Amino acid sequence: MDRNITKQLTPATVDFDRPGKQIGAFHVPLSSHDDAWGVVPVPVAVIANGKGPTVILEGGNHGDEYEGPIALGEMIRELDPATVSGRLIFIPTINQPAVLAARRTSPIDGINLNRTFPGDPMGTTTRQIAAFVNDVLFPMGDVFIDLHSGGSSLDIIPSAVIEPGKTPEQHAANMAAALAFGAPIAVVIDNRGDPRTATASAALAGMTVIGTEMAGAGTVSIDALALCRRGIRNVLAHVGVLPPEMATPVEAEPRLYDLTSKAHLLADDDGVFEPLHRLGTEVSAGELAGRIHFITQPGRTPVDLHYRADGIVYGRRQPGRVRPGNCCLVVATPYERTTS
Ligand SMILES: [Zn+2]
Repeated sequence: MDRNITKQLTPATVDFDRPGKQIGAFHVPLSSHDDAWGVVPVPVAVIANGKGPTVILEGGNHGDEYEGPIALGEMIRELDPATVSGRLIFIPTINQPAVLAARRTSPIDGINLNRTFPGDPMGTTTRQIAAFVNDVLFPMGDVFIDLHSGGSSLDIIPSAVIEPGKTPEQHAANMAAALAFGAPIAVVIDNRGDPRTATASAALAGMTVIGTEMAGAGTVSIDALALCRRGIRNVLAHVGVLPPEMATPVEAEPRLYDLTSKAHLLADDDGVFEPLHRLGTEVSAGELAGRIHFITQPGRTPVDLHYRADGIVYGRRQPGRVRPGNCCLVVATPYERTTS
């Protein structure tokens, strides 16, 4: 799609080439019943000073994941432009309608932003937001940081996420940025090869890409937020936009994991899932992982679920109630650094 159409349909109130600090928005047209010529304003901030890379920092891709938006908002308010070498472009609540609704998906068109990239400037609101990020912001960017948490349905070990690179060089850069974040673990996640995520689109655009998963359960985790605050500064120091003294030394080399095709344990039955292990527990393929209970049928025997991969329990479904196809558990498998 022609990038000029995206710029025309979703104009920004900030000047991306101006030094200093600006806080504004880009406007997504929404001609609704009660607002014929209205827009959805989506916050954008720019902090720029001198020469250096451009880093795009995204939070709120899903509207029920809060550590990223909180940490980015603090940075927008507190960071002195004089400490920056290059440019920071913040989109702290990129899926603004979903954030306002505290939902993973948009209440306007029902779509998950992170399955709509590269977007469509002629599409519905969520597709237009993705197009703005892909067509207007990505061409300016060298590094993309996409801050996720587990959201309402998952609790995940706070971790840096390594986006698989399109080239060995990009893969190495993504891995170095994820290790610099300083989380206890870093996990290679390709979302089952789905190319429609923000990070996959950023990788295609040639940027260095890092993501996070920060706890979840639709709440704010004290530990994950502290890690998120530190990690963002660590990555910005790693790529040279912030001075090294703004980074927090990483005490232990993060352990590396991968989500294989057997990572996700899905429910086959309609019932209540009982997990048997806490997050971080080492488990083996074939080991009993949990049971699905049929609580309204006390005479019916629960169904056992078994792990399909060796590794650690990385994520766990939050609601106890499950239906066929729901993801109950996620196992992360130790990853060989030499693999690319
Ligand atoms: Zn997310």
